[in-house]
Amino acid sequence: MDKSKCMVLKNDKFGRYLAASRDLKQGETIFTETPAIIGPPLIGNLICFDCGKPIEESFVFCTSCKIAIKCSSDCTGEHHNRSECSALTTAGIPGKCLAANPRLIYPLRFMLLKKSNPDLWKTLVELESHIEARRDTPIWKNHQVSIIDTLKSVGFINEEFTEELVQKICGIIDVNSFEIRPPKSNFNLTDPHQQCPRGLYINAALMAHDCTSNTFLSVNDDFVLTVKASTNIAKNSPIFFNYSNVLHGTLDRKRHLKEGKYFDCCCERCSDPSELGTDISSLKCHKCNGTVRSTAPNRPGSDWECSECKKQFKRSLIDIVINEGRRLIEEIDRNDVNKLVKVLDKLSATFHPNHFVLLETEQNLIGLYSLLPSNETNLTNKIDLCRKQLQILDVIEPGLSRIKGMIMYQMQFAMVQLANETHKKTPEKLLIKLRDAEKCLMESLKHLLHEPLKSPEGKVAQMAMKELKSLRSFIENLHNDLVTKQLAETRVKNRKVKK
Ligand SMILES: [Zn+2]
Ligand SMILES: [Zn+2]
Ligand SMILES: [Zn+2]
Ligand SMILES: [Zn+2]
Repeated sequence: MDKSKCMVLKNDKFGRYLAASRDLKQGETIFTETPAIIGPPLIGNLICFDCGKPIEESFVFCTSCKIAIKCSSDCTGEHHNRSECSALTTAGIPGKCLAANPRLIYPLRFMLLKKSNPDLWKTLVELESHIEARRDTPIWKNHQVSIIDTLKSVGFINEEFTEELVQKICGIIDVNSFEIRPPKSNFNLTDPHQQCPRGLYINAALMAHDCTSNTFLSVNDDFVLTVKASTNIAKNSPIFFNYSNVLHGTLDRKRHLKEGKYFDCCCERCSDPSELGTDISSLKCHKCNGTVRSTAPNRPGSDWECSECKKQFKRSLIDIVINEGRRLIEEIDRNDVNKLVKVLDKLSATFHPNHFVLLETEQNLIGLYSLLPSNETNLTNKIDLCRKQLQILDVIEPGLSRIKGMIMYQMQFAMVQLANETHKKTPEKLLIKLRDAEKCLMESLKHLLHEPLKSPEGKVAQMAMKELKSLRSFIENLHNDLVTKQLAETRVKNRKVKK
């Protein structure tokens, strides 16, 4: 493992994890690394074995091994290299086998390393697999049918690679892979059927989880992962990555981590019924309007309680309320602002204003407001919604954050529009408001400039740079005009005084 100067691998009562070997500053690169192996997602896209990009329509077989799937015969990726090509040929895996089951390439690549790169194999095989927790679960059975039975049919399960070892390899892959969204591809992240390719990164796999991360991850076009400090990290502190969705409530995050990563998260946010004071999972008491929170978030199935009247609610009831809220939102057209506002209003009787069900819908609304007439009401509403999201994100995702950068970018845009709309005739006020927007735009860039240039956020960062330049020159001209005007007025006044 390439241990750079700023991190160290610790092994103590918390297990194995990376920690800062010195004080790290926000924005500092902790490490960059290329994936040990990449592979297709569990479901969805077929990817080119060589460049890793999703295959849109047709594919070709590698001209030398006639086994690997490529996006085109002249693809110049590096992932299907000569050693893999000859290893696949020697292994004698029929081409049809991988075409019918492209997921096979991921564990297969892992297995081939045993001969081609024994050191890397040794490191990878030591990663956490949670094999006992996975035994006989649906995912275990799924791998048995789609991976192991296929490998068996081509004679690849033997004394060296037993069924047990291949299950372990599948476990290591599932538990430690990072979803990677290569910038050039147009992955639609909101489409659940379209998942990103996955990559196994040795250093990144050793980052411990915390629902409040202190790192910022990005992947460039060549699948190179960069891990930066999103906040200042003190010497000896763990380097954390949040493996779950920061905007999900504790119940959902815990479920996701338990099902995918096989552990019960008891981080500060997960242990706090108010989720660090954000109340992102809290409901409203129908009796007294108090705040209803879990009494013991780390004890599954524990009751919920009103902070005011102390009325208790069964956990099953909470699930019903959340599902009903989601159903109401799913029922309406996601592009209809009026209907969305109405349903939010209805839900606000049951949900805490910061509840994630509302936040998610409000994020959708922020985007929709950009399509509406830019009048004072719409712009003010949009800015208020952005401000609310940012306040919550500052707590649950402190420091550098992709989401915050994107929201700030939308917000400054509305701020400029609103300033121009309402202060056309009062240049002094216009100047103040535009300077606020400038600050917001600069802040947005602080987050987005850490993105690879070709990623969607990186492209926004480039647009933001251009907009900042023109906003600054507009502000400067406006300022100069005002100064000239004031000077002229003072001169007139002085002349009057002299007379
Ligand atoms: Zn390709
Ligand atoms: Zn080949
Ligand atoms: Zn947690
Ligand atoms: Zn109450």
